This record gives sequence, C-alpha cells and structure tokens, in this order.
Amino acid sequence: MLEVSIIGAGPAGLTAAYELSKLGLKSTVIEADHQVGGLSRTVNYRGYRFDIGGHRFFSKVPLINELWQEILGEDFLVRPRLSRIHYDGHFFDYPLKAFNALAGLGPVEAFLVGLSYTKAKLFPSEEETTFEQWVSNRFGHRLYRIFFKTYTEKVWGIPCTEISADWAAQRIKNLSLSEAIRNALFGSGRTKNGQIITTLIDNFYYPRLGPGMMWERCKELLAARGHETIHETRVEKIRHRHGRVECIYGKTFSGELVEFGGDHFLSTMPLRELIQALDPAPPEEVLQAAKNLRYRDYLTVVLIVRRETVFPDNWIYIHTPGVKMGRIQNYKNWSPEMVPDPTRTSLGLEYFLWDKDEEWNWSNDRLIELGIRECAQIGLIDPTEIEDGTVVRMKKAYPVYDQKYYENLAILRQYLETFSNLQTIGRNGLHRYNNQDHSMLTGIYAARNIVGEKYDVWSVNTEMEYHEESRVEKTETSKKKVFSKVGDTTLGDRQVPTRIVPATTASHISPDEIIEAVFAKLDPLALGTAVGIVSGLSLFLATIILLLKGGFVVGPNLSLLRHYFLGFRVTWSGAFIGLVEAGIGGFILGYLIAWLRNWGMRAYAFLLKKRAEAEAQRRLLDDV
Ligand SMILES: Cc1cc2nc3c(=O)[nH]c(=O)nc-3n(C[C@H](O)[C@H](O)[C@H](O)COP(=O)(O)OP(=O)(O)OC[C@H]3O[C@@H](n4cnc5c(N)ncnc54)[C@H](O)[C@@H]3O)c2cc1C
Repeated sequence: MLEVSIIGAGPAGLTAAYELSKLGLKSTVIEADHQVGGLSRTVNYRGYRFDIGGHRFFSKVPLINELWQEILGEDFLVRPRLSRIHYDGHFFDYPLKAFNALAGLGPVEAFLVGLSYTKAKLFPSEEETTFEQWVSNRFGHRLYRIFFKTYTEKVWGIPCTEISADWAAQRIKNLSLSEAIRNALFGSGRTKNGQIITTLIDNFYYPRLGPGMMWERCKELLAARGHETIHETRVEKIRHRHGRVECIYGKTFSGELVEFGGDHFLSTMPLRELIQALDPAPPEEVLQAAKNLRYRDYLTVVLIVRRETVFPDNWIYIHTPGVKMGRIQNYKNWSPEMVPDPTRTSLGLEYFLWDKDEEWNWSNDRLIELGIRECAQIGLIDPTEIEDGTVVRMKKAYPVYDQKYYENLAILRQYLETFSNLQTIGRNGLHRYNNQDHSMLTGIYAARNIVGEKYDVWSVNTEMEYHEESRVEKTETSKKKVFSKVGDTTLGDRQVPTRIVPATTASHISPDEIIEAVFAKLDPLALGTAVGIVSGLSLFLATIILLLKGGFVVGPNLSLLRHYFLGFRVTWSGAFIGLVEAGIGGFILGYLIAWLRNWGMRAYAFLLKKRAEAEAQRRLLDDV
C-alpha cells in the first residue's frame, strides 16, 4: 500500500489525510505545534476558546460543505452575523448603509461627505490605478478616508496609495451576475443539494466549540481509521534524489531528529521554508525566489471581561485613528459555548504586524495593557472590568502579494514540478490568500493526484464552485479546460490579495448572455414575421369567409378596418390589400415587441448588475 507523509496538520494537511483514508491509502501527518488546526485552530485559555481571527465557514464548493457536515454533523452551527465599524466614537452598520452612515457622521461631516461624493461622481480621478483612487471614485475621498483607508492599511501594512486598484476591482468584476439575477427573480433559498444558502451577509457556519473543533474531530476520525498525527515535530530537512523525495526529517521539541519515509509527500509548510529545507539545496535562483516571499504576521490579545454582554456583534472593524488594533472579536457571539462562564465575555483584539515591528516583541503584559487602553479609549470597556488576558502570536498569517511575488512563485513552481512525489498545498504552501475551503480543496486534489488523477492544485481559487460543478458533471476534457494554470490567471499584477480570480466563470458572462440563460431572447425578425403572417392571413381569411357567406351587407364590422388599412374593403381585391397591409403592420408590431422586450431585459440586467456591484462595494472590507 502506498504511504504518504504530510507536513502540517492545518485544514489542508488534515483534509488531504482524510481524503487519502477514503482512497484506502495510509498517511502520517507531522505537525510542528502541540495542537491541530494551524491558522484555523481554536486556542483554549482557562476554558475560554478563541480563534486566530474569527473563522467563518462558508464555501461555494459543495464538496467542502458536505465534508464539513460529514465531520462535525450537529456540532456545525448556523450562526447569525453582525459586524459594525467603529469610527470616532460611533458605530456604523457594516455592510455600509447610506442613511446610517450619514446619520452617524453628524450634519457637518455628512454634508462634507456628500460634497466629496458629488465631486467624485462629477469629476472622478481619471487615473484609477491605486486602491485609494478606486474607492474614492466610488464613495468620495472623505468616505474612503473614514471607512476604508485605516483598516486596509492596518491589515496590509502598505499605504493604500501603493495598493493596486485591481484588488478591489476584481471583486466587482467577478460578481456572479447570473446568481444576482436568479435571486432577484426567484429569490434565494436552497442549493441543489438542499443546503441552506448561507449568504455571507446574514449567516455563516461555525463549529460549536470554534474552528479547531473541526480539525480536532478530523484528527480523531483519522486516528480511528489508523492514520497517525504526530505533534511537536517540525520538519526541517527534506532529502531528495533524482527528482524524488526520499525522506523528511523532523525535529521534536526535545531536539530529537526523527525520519519519516513514504512513497509520496505533501507539504503545507510555508513555501519559503520548504525550499530552504530541501537537501541538496536547489539552485541559487530558486533559493533567492523563496527568500523573496514575504508574510504578514498577526497577534491577538484576548481580554476576559467581567460582564455578560459587551456588544452584540461577532466582530467590529476599528477605523478610529490613533488605535492600533484592526478588529475586535467577541467569541461568545460566534458560539455561546466559547466561554465557560456566561457572566463573562472574552474579546479578541487583532493586531496586524510585521515580526520586525516593535510591538511584536513586546511582552504579553505590555500588549495586554495596550489592548485594555485601546478598548477603554473607544469606550468599549472600563479597565477595572478586566479579569485576565493572554496573547497569541501567529507568524506568517498572510502571504503577501507584493510586486514580485508572482515572478518568484513562477520560479518556485517550475522547480517544484521537477519532483515526481512531492506536492505543496494549502495557504502558505501555495502562497495563496486562501480561506479554509480552498486550502482544503488543494489537499483533496493532491490526495487524488496520488492515485492517478490530474488536478492542478495551483489553480484552486474562489471560483472553484464552478470548477467543482463542472468537474463532477463533465468529462475529463472539460475538467482540463476549467482548471486554468496559474499563469493564465490575473493574479500576477496584484500587490495585495484578492480572493477572486477571474477564470472561465460567470464574471465574463455578459448581461445579454444571462438574459438568454434566464429567458430565451426574442428574435425581432422572427417575431415580426410570425405576427405579420398571422395578422395578414387572419384578415385575408376573415375577409374571404365573409365574402363566401355573402348577404345583403357583407362584413360591416370588418370593413371598419379600412380606417387603418388604406384601400381595404370586404371585397376580393380588398382581401389581398388586407393581407399585405396587415402583414406589414403585424411585422412591425412583432418586431417592436421583441425589441422592446429585449431592451427591457437588458436594462433590468444592467440595474441588477449595478445593484450587485454597489452591494459588493459596501462589503469590500470582508475581503481585506
Ligand atoms: C486572521 C485570519 C482570519 C481568517 N479568517 C478565515 C475565515 O473567516 N474563514 C476561513 O475559511 N478562513 C479564514 N482564514 C484562513 C484560514 O485560516 C486558512 O485558510 C487555513 O487555516 C489554511 O490552512 P492550511 O492547512 O493551508 O495552513 P495552516 O492553517 O497555516 O496550517 C499549516 C500547519 O502546518 C504546520 N507547519 C508549518 N510548518 C511546519 C513544519 N516545518 N513542520 C511541521 N508542521 C509545520 C503549522 O504549524 C500549521 O499547523 C483566516 C486566516 C487568518 C490569518
């Protein structure tokens, strides 16, 4: 039986092991940490559970939704979403709502925001290359400054003037117009396989005890099937020869070196470290490309507050100037069981940093102090209410898409493709800003590749739902078609991540095509001809029938049509005149009806598109 060694027990590594177990293959997962879940772990501090950030479970990939349900069953909850923005002493609904935003800003600021918005609409910046220009052109510079600039810069540590506009534009470009139209016409509800559509707006799935529960359970299921997860062992060396990995070496916490063999190897460790661990070392160009990859680091300060309810949101974006934290999570609102004592609340204060930043190296006490001060500054808590606190640091939380990352990635990918039994998967494994679902999907595909399938894990992206549907329903040929190569995507020129990659998806479907999909388009010529023939013949036949019937006065009513058809009479010659004229009139009428109907549908699609775009713009922060 083939044996597989998997580096990392995050969502990608564990899902790969799970899939391998279904395929009847043996695997061993080697994890550096003492617990599973990676970035999607749940940390337990004195019974208070919290995530690294807040992990919403949502996916458009049916396979992943089914897997989540399969692993957790009833412990997989549907939770309501509430999130707001805190700015300058006020809370604003998020996604943004015009009236709420203007009311919260006060009359003077609202007036200035209105002016700035009008200016942006009348005199938009002609150049739209930066994130700042892109958002300002749509919301006005003042609203951009209040609602977009601070948080985006906190997360990415890059001024918005240096962030490519493509990032935001991609989001709008890739709206699922067909879905928007379908929802507008028929309403949303359930998917084909009966699952509730959890819009990212109102609901999300969440494990009863936090995201780590999913991965702990997955590990248990694997263990029950005889597949081991080894903890506290960091893989540091990967020995290879003639394009094949022979074995990997992990160092335990006690410093012991352990060797793991296998026929195949899957890695979710950061790409930079994977390349550096290869023995013998790759060519200098490859090493340099790996060294050039950058990561944004993240830490969370958790405060335990002696209060039953602090705020109703799952999380709040902090836009208030002079506050370092970017977001604040209220884990109790994600799942009530995240706290052991209902009279207490645990808050997760999120700080996005580089590990060379001064704050990264502050002591826990100093960071907790900072957190308490900032929470008090924005009026969320009274410092005397804090019972306890802790800090969790997470290096390499975000793979950075800088100007050169794509070039570097191409070099690394080309080099890694020379290995016949090593696949790199997951978020940092592919240096992709993936959520859990896409990280997991890379694990599934890598596992299937081992048994002879031919998936390109590098092409897994947010539009995978289409891919997956296509894959399940279509043939091998179409499978190849829908999996584009990384080089075919537009990832390359983005400085910061977007989760949306245009491929062969709905993004390129024009409103006309959508109309055709929803309602068959009317052909004006065909409808004109049909109506023309029916009208002409009807009048012709009606006239003839009346003539054949005869009588003292023939067709007094029908002859009234002479007011509309020049020269028409209920006579034999009139019948032919009626045939021609009613035919022409019918043709014009039919043509006009079809044209107007098509035009109306196009206008309707345009309006829906604009509405969906506006909606997506209001939710821009979800993708930051
Ligand atoms: C702040 C934040 C919020 C997020 N929010 C969401 C969300 O709402 N929804 C969502 O779906 N996703 C979210 N994500 C993304 C999600 O966390 C990741 O997509 C997912 O965890 C990636 O899984 P992975 O297995 O690829 O990598 P990881 O989770 O990074 O797991 C990799 C594992 O490999 C181990 N490892 C690394 N190097 C070695 C080594 N040398 N030897 C042995 N083991 C090693 C690590 O310890 C880790 O356990 C968020 C991420 C962050 C940072």
